[in-house]
Amino acid sequence: MLTADAESEGLDRDFWQQEAQQLHWQHPFEQVVEFVESGPRRRWFSEGKTNLCFNALDRHLALRADRCAIIHRDFCGETHQLSYRELWQQVNALSSLMTEWGIRQGDRVLIALPMTPLAAVAMLACARLGAIHVVVYSSITSEALAQRIQACTPALFLHHSDSRGRESLPTIPSTAENMRVVDTASAAYVQQLALHMDRHVPCVWLSSSEPSHILFTSGTSGVPKGIVRDTGGYAVALLASLRHLFHLADDEVFFTSADVGWVTGHSYGIYAPLLAGLTTVMCESSAVNAPGQNWWHMVAELGITRMLTIAGAIRLARRQGPPRASLTSLRTLYLAGEPLDESTETWVRDVMAVSCENHYWQTESGWPLLAGQGTKLSAVFSRSVEVINPLNGEASPEGETGMLIIKNTLGPGAMLTLWQDDTQHDQRYWLQHRGQWCYATHDCAIKQDSVIVIQGRMDDVINIGGKRLATAEVENALSGLPGMVEVVANRTPHPLLGEMVALFVVTEALTSTQQALLKQEIRKRLVERCGRHALPRRIHFRYQLPKTFSGKFLRRMLLD
Ligand code: AMP
Repeated sequence: MLTADAESEGLDRDFWQQEAQQLHWQHPFEQVVEFVESGPRRRWFSEGKTNLCFNALDRHLALRADRCAIIHRDFCGETHQLSYRELWQQVNALSSLMTEWGIRQGDRVLIALPMTPLAAVAMLACARLGAIHVVVYSSITSEALAQRIQACTPALFLHHSDSRGRESLPTIPSTAENMRVVDTASAAYVQQLALHMDRHVPCVWLSSSEPSHILFTSGTSGVPKGIVRDTGGYAVALLASLRHLFHLADDEVFFTSADVGWVTGHSYGIYAPLLAGLTTVMCESSAVNAPGQNWWHMVAELGITRMLTIAGAIRLARRQGPPRASLTSLRTLYLAGEPLDESTETWVRDVMAVSCENHYWQTESGWPLLAGQGTKLSAVFSRSVEVINPLNGEASPEGETGMLIIKNTLGPGAMLTLWQDDTQHDQRYWLQHRGQWCYATHDCAIKQDSVIVIQGRMDDVINIGGKRLATAEVENALSGLPGMVEVVANRTPHPLLGEMVALFVVTEALTSTQQALLKQEIRKRLVERCGRHALPRRIHFRYQLPKTFSGKFLRRMLLD
């Protein structure tokens, strides 16, 4: 039980003290959590020393060395397996080679590798040496790559020049100072690595709050920010989430569809399943591995028990009709990363016949902040959440849109700070509310009957003559309209009202008469569900909509 004080803080020290016992600590921690100076930054399990790689690999060797750690579905659709022992050997070999290259604790290592086990090996080798990995999506644009190199000044850049079905690869800047560039597709790399194959490299024991990685946000909400995450807090949080939120058993085969360059890929594609000694599926993106029937066949063939993806992927999969493979192995489908619409959730439940959970989180949080069924979400564990009016900081009345805040702490495993920018971290994300630090999610939400409904980013709100309408509200209202595949709501200027709704719609193959009918249906539905002010000024039909690499709509590219 929480004490009254701890409860209002959203903290359960006893719970986290206990969960931390699931890990190996080379040196025990003294305090569960403490403020850095007077806040808002926190340190978890300070004084404790541990290592992510040791906990994800070495710790399992005694009992599960032969268990499959990674199932790799390559870009041709072929399947390969790697046991915990094999993964440990490969990580040691690369750690040894990286040591020869002079990589030390605290150095940044930039990783742009395809979704093959090598990406996991590289991350774990960094963790072993105490180097900070900065993984980017391997088909990142040249411009974004240059920006990340400038921001985090890596000592080493690992990339893979063989396209492996990827459409485009970035240009590698030749000018970055003191950065060793290694092409893991080159014969030279393969030969060098072979010389280190039987080496054993001891783990570097890190203080719990030392950074394990930097992850740049996807940029859906502005300029990418370098999120810095710790070591011990991250490991404890991920393991606790698997036990108490995902309720995983010991036999799970976990498939996270996101690339390792995204937070879901980091947390539930690599670290969480390996920390728990389970099997994870790494799937290279290509036509043969696209959402839809190929995924369902993969679930059946590999016996996948849990799957974590984005609602947009399920909407794509739906276009191919009901699954034509048995999904009996699949225990739960987790959807995270964007609002979950009613019709997608109903389809998962009724047509896939699989239970579905909605998880709300941010790159900043590292793991889910809220979870629930459909759109009705509640705080995960003891977090204390509130919806406030962002103008005056007062709690929003039930049913009224405001900003979601998390009181006091995001919990272990969340960002420590922004890379070399404590000031921006403190000012952008944290506010003082009644003498307490509160994390501003910058997401609109409504609180109703003790549940939270997320409506979208604060800057995704349309102001129609003073009436505020979240784009997610409009999109939700339209979900499930026959003939419509995807819809994005956006703002368009209006001389009198200031702004009005503009819609971008992807449909099934429709004649122009059917399109005209759909427009009528859209208008009728919006008036019924959101009110007359939601009537769109324009409705554009599109063949497809611009998305980030991680599959989220790029609204700013759709400004009318
Ligand atoms: P990112 O950090 O780029 O992964 O994006 C995080 C943002 O995605 C959040 O701030 C929300 O706006 C959105 N998001 C994530 N999960 C959900 C969810 N389950 N429902 C609604 N929006 C979500």
